[in-house]
Amino acid sequence: MERVFNFAAGPAVMPEEALRRAADEMLCYGNSGMSVMEMSHRSAAYQEIFDHTVSLLRELMDIPEEYRVLLLQGGATGQFAAVPMNLLQRSADYVDCGNFAHSAMITAQKYGAVRCAGSSREGGYTRVPDPDSLQLDPGADYLHITTNNTIYGTRWTKLPEPCAPLVADMSSNILAEPFDVRRFGVIYAGAQKNIGPAGLTVVIVRGDLLGHVRPETPAVLDWTVMAEKGSMLNTPPTYAIYMAGLCLEWLRDQGGVAAIYQRNRRKAALLYDYLDQSRIFHGIADKESRSLMNVTFRTGDAELDAAFVREAAQAGLVSLKGHRIAGGMRASIYNAMPEAGVSNLVSFMEDFEKKTLQTR
Ligand SMILES: *Cc1c(COP(=O)(O)O)cnc(C)c1O
Repeated sequence: MERVFNFAAGPAVMPEEALRRAADEMLCYGNSGMSVMEMSHRSAAYQEIFDHTVSLLRELMDIPEEYRVLLLQGGATGQFAAVPMNLLQRSADYVDCGNFAHSAMITAQKYGAVRCAGSSREGGYTRVPDPDSLQLDPGADYLHITTNNTIYGTRWTKLPEPCAPLVADMSSNILAEPFDVRRFGVIYAGAQKNIGPAGLTVVIVRGDLLGHVRPETPAVLDWTVMAEKGSMLNTPPTYAIYMAGLCLEWLRDQGGVAAIYQRNRRKAALLYDYLDQSRIFHGIADKESRSLMNVTFRTGDAELDAAFVREAAQAGLVSLKGHRIAGGMRASIYNAMPEAGVSNLVSFMEDFEKKTLQTR
């Protein structure tokens, strides 16, 4: 069977070049005589793979020396707990700008005082709060935001500028657009959206924020311990780290983040421009908060939505069903989604619209 265009929100599309390379190297990596999956994480050959992935990430994101890059497990959800366990002493500010942001805030409440500094929950999360409207506590230990809200298809186009360190769940738009890492105290992301396969969690933490961990913190969530141990207190997700390295090499070959950002803008514009003039499909997110990665839309008729998702899948455009709590449709168009995937989707939507209007 031919490969389809996969619009899933995560695990998601990966670069075909990276998958081919992994297939070629599956049975025997270099002159090791074994698969990467079979290697000891303590071997020199594997350490090289690990270091290569970290150095590509440092290069692509221009991560300054004073930041530590940790390759962990437990997903972004694990970090919802790790963030307060490593940073929360007095009080933390959270922006409730989406479902994952809400979960992060609720999780942090288990560990200490948490303030909601701004929320778009009432409006159904169709936008992110205006950064200038946030009620920030100048004495907060940190301010937590989600830079791209995967379920509702919104993102921050202008970042808040708190006195406290900014902590960002960047799971669904890391490496999709240029971010100045210096503006953040901590960035974390599950890999399965825009980095590589599931099983790997990236944490980028400014060195001076280490060392304040709460004593009951499990060692696998303790950034200070993990930084000291080079992320190898225990077995890291070795194959996912290798695959992430192949995906990051691909991204470098595309021209890096600046180049992929231009492509991502073109891809998103193609879809949004079509949605803005369509007579049956309507974008869900407010225009000024629109995500470049997750484009949410609906017809307003649940049966028509379901027919669209079904027929699109038959045409090789799969996983367009929206998240169950948001409804409608969602096209996730991460870095690895080719422009052809988006233009095929728009053509399919145009045909579907024509057909629908004719039968009315
Ligand atoms: C997918 C996602 C999560 C959850 O990630 P897991 O790795 O499944 O824990 C959290 N935050 C955001 C923004 C996401 O997109």
